[in-house]
Amino acid sequence: MASRVLFLLLSLIVTTFWLNANMLKSMQLKKGTLELHFSKLLKKEDLRTEVIAQKGRTRYIFDFKNCTLKKGVQSIKSKKGPLSSIRVGQYKPHTVRLVLDSKRPFALKYYQKSKPIFYIHIPLDAKRIKQGKPKQVKKKSSAKQLFSKVLPEEREVVEEVPYAKPNINLRHNYKIVIDPGHGGRDPGTMWKGLKERNIVLQIAKRVARKLRTLGFKVLMTRTNNRRYVKLSSRTRYANKKGADVFVSIHVNSIENKSRYNIARGVETYFLMPARDARAKRIAARENREMLKGEDLATKRMFINAVFTGPKIELSKRLAIDVQRSVIQSLRSRYTNVKNGAARGGPYYVLVGAQMPAILVEVGYLSNPIDRKRLQDGKFQERLADGIVNGIVNYLKNREREID
Ligand SMILES: [Zn+2]
Repeated sequence: MASRVLFLLLSLIVTTFWLNANMLKSMQLKKGTLELHFSKLLKKEDLRTEVIAQKGRTRYIFDFKNCTLKKGVQSIKSKKGPLSSIRVGQYKPHTVRLVLDSKRPFALKYYQKSKPIFYIHIPLDAKRIKQGKPKQVKKKSSAKQLFSKVLPEEREVVEEVPYAKPNINLRHNYKIVIDPGHGGRDPGTMWKGLKERNIVLQIAKRVARKLRTLGFKVLMTRTNNRRYVKLSSRTRYANKKGADVFVSIHVNSIENKSRYNIARGVETYFLMPARDARAKRIAARENREMLKGEDLATKRMFINAVFTGPKIELSKRLAIDVQRSVIQSLRSRYTNVKNGAARGGPYYVLVGAQMPAILVEVGYLSNPIDRKRLQDGKFQERLADGIVNGIVNYLKNREREID
């Protein structure tokens, strides 16, 4: 009896899918336009797009949900323009994926009119995009377009994104520099194949994305893992750009085996002479890279700066706001979140910053619970939410004081 019900239920699900499912019947590249012919009109909610820039390649991904691929529809090799190939396949049982591989980034436009044809306009003559000027594709005027959109080109270098005034009730437009720790030849702390430089880059990108959505101008000191940026260049960059806030993101670890299970959680640091052993130890590890590259004069400047940092008070408040928000954000979803507090520490990367500057140690790679969570996208999102809320709270508090 039960099996019959199950069978009926399954048949119902399968039939419902087939009744609603779309099919990609053919694909043609005509001059600069790729045409995808479907069996029915594409619904907006069935389309997901993503741009991934990696290793000198850019991939434009289109996922068509509730869709199957007709037999015989094949990928296309292209030698025209920036495209190297147009790949298509049944990515998941109900999802067809289209990938445009490109040697360089460009802006492309896609749209659908009243017929079930999905158009992707590819600028075959797309020249290399100039830095700092995202090129806009002209809107085609057509009343019948059901939907259309321009995918932004994604560049791997430090970029400046045009921004609107924040819609979070802040009176000024603020510029935030996000600094993912380490990078390039400096992997940061390492644990069972995991590298700090990779994890902090992932989290930093989430933070940057969220801040941009809120309308902030966001700059990153690095946006890939190939490049090593000298510690002293990071705050210098923030100074040059006139940033209002500098946030460096790091992952912690401890060498003492007997403390693997004890040392865990989030700690936020601002620049201050080391008072306690922990601050000294962690700062020593984060400063290690500095001792290699810099000359004696720079090192001496560092020591002096630690004792005369003009922004200590503001940085301390930023650290307190960020620490509090991160813990709040994590505790709303996770149990067993350890609050490592806001602390002062002699971090070289914060030296020379002309704006409030902090360093967030988002967790310990040496701790099994933290290690597992730090790799998880959902946890990273919570961390990013916390950092963003902390920055916003800090700025709101500052604006209130100035009144
Ligand atoms: Zn670090």
